[in-house]
Parts: sequence; C-alpha cells; structure tokens
Amino acid sequence: MVSTNAEPEAPGVDLGRLADLSVTKLHGVGPKKAKGLASMELETCLDLLTHYPRRYIDRSKQARIADLAEGEEASVLVSVLTTNSRRVKGGKVMVFSTVGDDSGSIKITFFNQAWRERQLTPGRQAVIYGKVELFRGQRQMTNPVVDLVGDKTARIIPVYPQSSKSGLHSWDIAEWAAEILRRSVPPAGRGISDPLPDYLLDRHDFITREAAFVGIHQPESMAEVAEARRRLVFDELFRLQLALVLRKRAIERTETGLAHVIDGPLLAGFTEGLPFALTSAQDKAIAEICKDLARPIPMHRLLQGDVGAGKTLVAVAAMLAAVDGGHQAALMAPTEVLAEQHFAGIRALLDGLTVEASNSLLGERPLKVELLTSRLGTADRKRILAGLLTGDIDLAIGTHALIQENVMFSSLGTVVIDEQHRFGVEQRAALRDRSYGDATPDVLVMTATPIPRTAAMTVYGDLDVSVLDELPPGRTPIVTRWVRAPGDLAQAPEELEGATDLEAMWAAVTEQIDQGRQVYLVCPLIDESEKLEVASAEATFDRLRQVELDGYRLALLHGRLGSAEKDETMELFRSGQVDVLVATTVIEVGVDVANATVMVILDADRFGIAQLHQLRGRVGRGEHASSCWLVGQATTEDGEARLEALVASTDGFELAEVDLDLRGEGTILGERQKGRNDLKLASLRRDREAVGQARQAAIDVVDADPALEAHPSLARELQVFLDEADAEFLLKS
Ligand code: ADP
Ligand code: MG
Repeated sequence: MVSTNAEPEAPGVDLGRLADLSVTKLHGVGPKKAKGLASMELETCLDLLTHYPRRYIDRSKQARIADLAEGEEASVLVSVLTTNSRRVKGGKVMVFSTVGDDSGSIKITFFNQAWRERQLTPGRQAVIYGKVELFRGQRQMTNPVVDLVGDKTARIIPVYPQSSKSGLHSWDIAEWAAEILRRSVPPAGRGISDPLPDYLLDRHDFITREAAFVGIHQPESMAEVAEARRRLVFDELFRLQLALVLRKRAIERTETGLAHVIDGPLLAGFTEGLPFALTSAQDKAIAEICKDLARPIPMHRLLQGDVGAGKTLVAVAAMLAAVDGGHQAALMAPTEVLAEQHFAGIRALLDGLTVEASNSLLGERPLKVELLTSRLGTADRKRILAGLLTGDIDLAIGTHALIQENVMFSSLGTVVIDEQHRFGVEQRAALRDRSYGDATPDVLVMTATPIPRTAAMTVYGDLDVSVLDELPPGRTPIVTRWVRAPGDLAQAPEELEGATDLEAMWAAVTEQIDQGRQVYLVCPLIDESEKLEVASAEATFDRLRQVELDGYRLALLHGRLGSAEKDETMELFRSGQVDVLVATTVIEVGVDVANATVMVILDADRFGIAQLHQLRGRVGRGEHASSCWLVGQATTEDGEARLEALVASTDGFELAEVDLDLRGEGTILGERQKGRNDLKLASLRRDREAVGQARQAAIDVVDADPALEAHPSLARELQVFLDEADAEFLLKS
C-alpha cells in the first residue's frame, strides 16, 4: 500500500478519544438504552469497549440435550420452544418453559420469577446452566442460570455481564462493542493506537492493543481470547503500576529526608545485648531499613511479618538508628492496650541503654522512652509534651494522641506505625507533619496481616516492602482443630449438637490447665454493639464458670472495663493467678504470655481469616506445645473454607493467599485504591505473574523517563484513567 499523499500516517484512535464519545453516538442507543447502560456505569464508548465478556460459549463444545444425564450440572445452548406460567399457593408464580436443540428438548421451571415469561419468548436462543433432575420420568432443570445469547452464527459467543434492571441483553452489548470496533479498526477506522513501547511488546510477546480488543469481543477461538486477555490484563496492571511508581518517585523528589548515622553505638549496643540472635529475615529487614535511613530521601517502607515473626525488634532497631543520628522516634499503635504493651515491652528491651547528653560535659544519660495516650493526666501530659519539644525524650510510644495538634517534636527522625490497616493514609501524613523543620521523617509501617506479594505490590505500590518470612527458632507449631458445634454456649440447648467433640475439647483444655498451662477463650463476635457483645461475653463467662470450667480460675476481659480493671486482669493472667482469660477480641493484638498454650475461639465462623490467625498467634509463644480450637458451624461455603484453611496452615502468607482467593481483591484494594481502580479484567489472584511484570515495566519506563515526556501516549492514558489532579501531580517533574 503506497500512499502518494505526503500527510503523515494517521496515529490511530487512542482510548482518550473513545472516553470522549458518549454511547448515544452508537446506533440504536436512544435515551432509554442510554439509561440502561448508565445504570451499569457504561456511559462512554471506552466504558463499553472495556466492558468485557464474562464468559464465552463455544458452540462446538456444547453438550446436547440428548446426552444430559440425571444429577449432572450441565450447560446447553437451546432455543426456547414454549413458555407459560401458573399462579400457585400463596400468590407466587411458576414459569415453565420448554427449550430444545436438534437432539431433543427439556423442561425448565422457575419459582417466583414471573419476569422469565417475558424473557423466554419462543425462538430466543439461550444458554442454560443447571442441575439435571428427573421428574415423573422427564428431565428438567429448576431455576437454571440463563444467558440469552441472541441469534448468532459465530462459533464463539461472548456472554456479557448484564443486570436485569438495565433492560439490556448480552447481545445488545455485543452489537455495540462490534460497532465501536468496526468504526475504529481499518478499513473503516483509523486503527486503535498502542501506547506500549515496542520493547515491552517484544519482551512479553504481546499482540497489539487493537488485536486484543478484537480478540476479546469477537474471538474466533478460545486461544485468541487467552492472548487478548493476557494483553489487556497487562495494560490494566501497567497503568496502575505506572501511577504508583510515578507517585513513589514524585514523593522521593519532593521531600527532603534526614540522612542518619546507621551504625551508631546505640543500635549496636542493642543488638549485642539481646539474649538471642536475630533471624536472618530480621537482619535483612534491618539492613534494608538502615540503607533507607542513610539516604537523604525519606523512607516509606512497609514491614510485613507474620504474628510472632519479631517485628517489634526491627521497629526498635529503626527507632534507635534515629536516636543514633541525633533525632527522636515515635511508634504509633492502634489501641491503648497495644500502645501500653509496646511501651512495657520496648522499655524492657532498652533497659540499660544510654545516649550522649546534649551537654557533652554531662556525659551519658539513660535513653528516655515515654508513653503518650489519652489516658494521661494533665500534669504528665504537659511534662511529656515539653520533653518531646526539647528533645529530652528520645522515643515516644502512643496512640492517636501522638498526632494531636499540640504535639511537637524537637526533631522527629523515624516514625513507626503499627498495624497499618487500622490507620488511614491521612493519619500517616499527620504524624509526619508533627515534625519541626523541613525534613520529613522516615516512615516504617508494620503490619501483622500479611498480604500476598502481588497484592502488596499493588496496594502498597508506593512503599518499599520488607518481609519477615521466618519465625524465630524453637517455636512448636500450633495444632488447630475445628469443632463443628454451636459457638454460643450460653444460648445453646442442653443437648448440644457436636457435643461429643465439645466434650473432648473441654477435656483437652482442662488437662492443659491441670498441667499448669493457661487458656484464652474468645467470646462470640457481636457486630451490633459493644453493649451486646459485653452482655454475650458475660453470659458465656457465667456459663463456663458453672458448667464447662467449673472449679478453675476464670477472669473476664472486655472493652467496657476501665483501664485499671483491664490492667489488673491482664496482670493476674500474666502472673499465672488466672487459668482462663475469657475475652472479647480485645486480646487480638499484642498480648504476650508464654505460658498460655490454648486458644479457644467460640463462633469462629464469624471471624475473618486474618483475625483468626491473629488470635491464634497469641499462643505458641513459649516452649510448650500449643493448640487452637475453633468452635463453630460454618453456614456458608466460604465460612467452611476459612476454617479449613486455618486448620490446614499456620503460615500467615499462605493464609493471606487463601483469603485473597475467597474474598477477591476488592476488599484489599478498597482501602487504598478507592475510585482509582480500573481492574476490570485483571485479578490479583489469577494474574500474579502479570502484576510483577507490570511493576517491572513501570519501573523501567519511569526511571528512564520520569515525566513520561518521551511516552506521550502513556501520559495521555494516565490522564484518561486517573483523576485529572492525580495525573497532573504525577507527571509534573
Ligand atoms: P510480632 O510483633 O512480629 O508478632 P514480636 O516482635 O512481638 O512479634 O516477637 C514475638 C516474640 O519473639 C517476642 O517474645 C520476641 O522477644 C521474640 N523474638 C523476636 N525475635 C526473636 C529472635 N530472633 N529469636 C528469638 N526470639 C525472638
Ligand atoms: Mg507485634
């Protein structure tokens, strides 16, 4: 094809152009259809083009009605022959339809779905999916899944997600997607442009974006779908990673950090004084952190580690490095209980360490650690605020109280935030702002809720990540059992279902107590209110005292107790004067009693995987073998899978993968990617490899071209998919 015209080759249609085109520009989209589309959040041609088929029907692979066997779950492509309805008892409606293919026919029945009569008019083609039953010698399906597919001749028929409310059918959407492609792709159109640099196309052996859109909407084979999907998944993940890497680099450019001394005497004295050797994972994490601290760019690092992996030590090392460099450090915990525990634990770890006094004539003074929570009295609070401002206090441990207006540090070098998932991004920023001067402190975020690596790359894509993937030596694995019995002892009838298992459990539990061990017992989770939760905990406590654990020393701990009472109870447990600590989830985080070897969780099916894993992490901390009993009856498949996962694994990272599989990425992404999540096709679980590839590609592109000046089409693409303000922030150099 030789063009005599001197005009440059048309650049093709980019996605921004399609984002500017309303769906009303398409044939047959009037106000009513546009409204239906809008109800599915499809307003532009780009929305439609990226509204991908949910699945495909391969005509050549469909079962034939004649071959369907009773009891089998099957999907068949059929034409509707007849449909009628009948009103039954209670005013409900039953719809009966007879559907057939060239091998025979089958009856389908719907209960209470009157609208099916309008949907299944004779002649319509549909794919039905359901279980084949035999009724009076005839095969039939009850309430099957129905996808109307329109009268198509292609071998592969795409089935689009649709909502019955929108009034649109899968084939409507297929038509419009086809029209967009027809008008964009040559010969009628200018072609869809491809923003990926050639070297990335080559590296991953990708088809072009245009081929990918055609392949996903109008495939000729399932292999074509797979290639199209691979390319489009990458594009989604790549956009996200580009944004994250740009953000990370932008922060690095705009902030001035404090370059610390990283091998000062304090840190060295601390690690040498420990009664045990650091695990190699701890060593590695500390080295990574120290490297960050030594750079003039502020650290933004996430420390992931399973319960008991020894994150506290790593955090303390980071804080001491700050003090070695002449600065202060702060640790912020999500609850008062946890802040107090950190304070007690960290103070014990630091016992005997000294720093040089600000007046060198005075020589050394003890390292000063203080606790700042809202429970402080006015005088103490005043004293501590003054100490932070003058720099007399080296380490501050606390709660949200640390980020209140009037808290000011002399020179805050390092900030550690524990249990990140409970704090918002804003609070992180607020703590950073507590610092005097221009320098931004180094931030280490710790989370004991491990998330899979690929998810971490996405959710925390603007942070560096260190992982403690190794437990200190000498831990005996916790044996977990699931007792399938009602978890609410207080309300359960005398004849408990699963009672023999429960009896066995109580026998095992009391045997441990008789051997001098201690027990945590977590009460049912009540979402409605703290008051109800407390009432339920009290009822459980009374019941246990009189029945299952009669004769043992029990104590009750819940969120409504005053702090003095809580402390007293915890102290009684710590010192071994209480055998069984009956508690609400107050004990979820941080409690550390080595002699406690049994964890009983009632109504375990109501807790999430991460929470159960956290709770279980309260035992197995000492020399004795530990066990965890999950009591509950899973009412859903997911609930069943959760409890089974807990029984099968004690590895937090492995459990996180299961959690991701069960809950999907929505929940994980939700916290940080709100409104910025265009992952329509990509899945953090299925596409793990692609996440890593996209991250690497984004790093390669951004490091070579920080403002994307040489990649205008990628820059344009970010503007299309991100908020404008966001894109502007990211791209300004
Ligand atoms: P995490 O916060 O990660 O759940 P902690 O920091 O509370 O874990 O540590 C759990 C326990 O393990 C603590 O009692 C701590 O003293 C101990 N510990 C930490 N690191 C080591 C190590 N390298 N060797 C032995 N014990 C360790
Ligand atoms: Mg901890």
